[in-house]
Amino acid sequence: MDNNLMEKIISLAKRRGFIFPGSEIYGGLAGTWDYGPTGVLFKKNLKDLWWRDMVQLRDDIVGIDAAIMMNPIAWKASGHLDAFSDPLVECKICHQRFRADKKEEIENHERSHKKEKVSWTEPRQFNLLVKAYLGVIEGEQSEIFLRGEITNGVQVNFKNVLDSTRIKIPFGIAQIGKAFRNEITPGNFTFRSREFEQMEVQFYIYPSKEESDKWFEYWKQNRLDWYLSLGMNKNKLRFRDHTPQERAHYAKAATDIEYEAPWGWSEFMGIHNRGDWDLSRHQQFSGKDLSYRDPLTGEKYIPWDIETSAGVDRSLLFLLIDAYREEKGRVYLKLHPNLAPYKVAVFPLLANKENLVKKAREVYESLKKKFMVAWDDRGNIGKRYASQDEIGTPYCLTIDFESLENNDLTIRDRDTTKQERIKIDKIFDYLNQKIEKL
Ligand code: ATP
Repeated sequence: MDNNLMEKIISLAKRRGFIFPGSEIYGGLAGTWDYGPTGVLFKKNLKDLWWRDMVQLRDDIVGIDAAIMMNPIAWKASGHLDAFSDPLVECKICHQRFRADKKEEIENHERSHKKEKVSWTEPRQFNLLVKAYLGVIEGEQSEIFLRGEITNGVQVNFKNVLDSTRIKIPFGIAQIGKAFRNEITPGNFTFRSREFEQMEVQFYIYPSKEESDKWFEYWKQNRLDWYLSLGMNKNKLRFRDHTPQERAHYAKAATDIEYEAPWGWSEFMGIHNRGDWDLSRHQQFSGKDLSYRDPLTGEKYIPWDIETSAGVDRSLLFLLIDAYREEKGRVYLKLHPNLAPYKVAVFPLLANKENLVKKAREVYESLKKKFMVAWDDRGNIGKRYASQDEIGTPYCLTIDFESLENNDLTIRDRDTTKQERIKIDKIFDYLNQKIEKL
């Protein structure tokens, strides 16, 4: 693994306010991470772009935002109480636990006991759902589960969405939200966390092999193309089909989209053919009719579901790694302008010249109504460029003495470092054109 690169990314993420270890001042809490001032903007941009692509620009997908806490019967119905588990083995020397299916982690651990030969316990199933207790009177609390994936809140609302909209099959329900898993070995920075976010579409279709094969292929390509449109390196992305043994309990077919991370190829989103698993089980456990009636033919059926499930945090991590550049002693993030936390930074050439500051401030105030704009008047221009480069700000604008005469400024491009002069009244259109374009 390229430890060096990961160390640099983790250090930059902390130094520049992208991602901090959770509860750090108390020694942390394994598997939790906090997004800082730049990280929260990056994450919001990613989710907004996803929502725009999935909901705003499509006629066949609507969104919901379901509760994290659900009636526990929903988890029995969806199979998570019985089958949402990982096989767990324990090192007999130090009692650390690992997933039996993660060969590399097991081998690394065996190597870490340099002198002794490690022996392992037999694999045991370990449920990943995180428990919580609801209720105000002690002794009368009821056990619930924090959702282990966000799908269930969509499935139980299938009928509500049908009844409250004019949507017809094939159609999708989109959702973004937190999920929680009692991961045995959190690690690789945010890659395996215990609290994370997912962005998913459950796409309901006519129940047939032909339809499901067609939509499965459609969503695979659609999602890969989306990450490519965000500027990810094509050679670092691939599909990986699950073998039948690997598939989750609900899946008829499953493909992951993987990124070549510094520690090897790793999944950051999955496309699953869930068949009628969820709706039939919820129908069975709730006793409510969850079938669909075709308005033209009158045919009644339980639709099948093609799911696209992406990790927000894993997508962000891989976009961050993919954007990291070191060139000629310079570090910068080549983030797509739509993802960059700040779109533009504004500087007065000198902080102690009132007329420069006043003019720069005017530009800053007018642009920030439309874009996230950074302001910096510390140190010299070189240092200001370097700090904007490290958070991926695509453009830096400097007001200098010429600006006072000519009503223009210099615009510096993050990727080429080239500077050109541009009239102040043209700058808004210039940025609008570069940043709104996907
Ligand atoms: P893995 O095999 O890595 O545990 P999974 O196959 O269980 O992942 P899914 O249940 O398909 O993952 O979840 C869909 C997406 O949710 C994943 O592709 C990933 O991006 C995200 N995800 C799942 N578990 C975690 C986690 N512990 N930390 C961060 N993101 C996660």
